[in-house]
Amino acid sequence: MASATHPFLSTYKTPPLTLVRGEGHRVCDSDGRWYLDAATGIAVQALGYNHPRVTAAIQAQLARISHTSNLYTVPVVRELAGLLSQTFDGGAVFFTNSGVEANEAAVKLMRKAAFRQGASHKTEILVLEGAFHGRTMLGITMTPKAAYQEGYHPLVPGIRVVARDRVAEEIGPQTLGVVVEPVQGEGGCVPVPNLAGIRAACDAHGALLMYDEIQCGLGRKGVLRILPRPDLMTLAKAIGGGLPLGAMIAIKPELQEVFQPGDHGSTFGGNPVSCAAGKAVLEVILEQRLWENCALLGARLSAGLRETGVSVTGAGLMVAAHLGRPSGPVMEAMRARGVLTVGAGNEGVRFLPPFTLTAGEVDQIVEAFAQSLSA
Ligand SMILES: *Cc1c(COP(=O)(O)O)cnc(C)c1O
Repeated sequence: MASATHPFLSTYKTPPLTLVRGEGHRVCDSDGRWYLDAATGIAVQALGYNHPRVTAAIQAQLARISHTSNLYTVPVVRELAGLLSQTFDGGAVFFTNSGVEANEAAVKLMRKAAFRQGASHKTEILVLEGAFHGRTMLGITMTPKAAYQEGYHPLVPGIRVVARDRVAEEIGPQTLGVVVEPVQGEGGCVPVPNLAGIRAACDAHGALLMYDEIQCGLGRKGVLRILPRPDLMTLAKAIGGGLPLGAMIAIKPELQEVFQPGDHGSTFGGNPVSCAAGKAVLEVILEQRLWENCALLGARLSAGLRETGVSVTGAGLMVAAHLGRPSGPVMEAMRARGVLTVGAGNEGVRFLPPFTLTAGEVDQIVEAFAQSLSA
């Protein structure tokens, strides 16, 4: 039974910590202990906690106007969309509240594009083994993991799972689109091979290429614009600066003409306060070229972890150590040493630290990991 002390459905394990504050790269628990957060709320707090520019932008927008719906426009929403468009190849933006809603919007856009073109043979959307695209019915259909799908059938039709290293070969005339996380996050920080071959096969068969950059995007992978360029992409997590925000960006010009007024929508999507946070986040990333820091310190982190003898995968500041045994005890021991991480499957420890990480902090993370390996 729910109670005042446990008023939740049991979707999550009982959290080990109650966090009361965050400042920079650290969070403080209810006993006053501080931790270096190498998980950033699952790849969300890319600039750390309470970043002065982000907090000031949120406070200012909150005091101006916090919600209008899409019946009206608010300058900061347009400004963030403009900045995203400039950054991502002149794309056209649709804002959502979350990552999975951005993916949902992308799939709807691809389907509507085929409908408008009378391409009724293009029914199939390919997703990759090891992918994670969210937890709605469409999200779990696109996430080929038994534990996430079991008990929820029937799933959404028209989605086919293909092997990660055979994507290009599976694309055919019936393929409407291919959805790829350039670096698979929940799947264990696995870079997807042969993006160029996938791009070429999409072009050969008139299929659309979509990148889910919700976890690896905005520079975390070590580059800002992932090549080759997709036809459409989704962002969330880091873009909101800690507030809920997602974006679907239609890059291919023809895709920008597909949705007409009334074809899709969201009451809260593009909330002005979230967009103010997002604009501050993106401006700081661009001004400081933080993807370069992600590449540099990601290499240091990967090398340091590898030196402990474990297998390491990832790109930039999106790194997983694979232990070959349950990783829970190691993560717990790291927490006791003041470093927070997140799992990658049962046997992985995932590192998603802030883009502004320092070399000293990398060494602290690696040292805590090395000391915890015997746990
Ligand atoms: C987190 C994540 C999602 C889902 O985002 P939500 O905001 O939880 O809906 C989708 N795709 C990827 C790659 C993610 O990491």
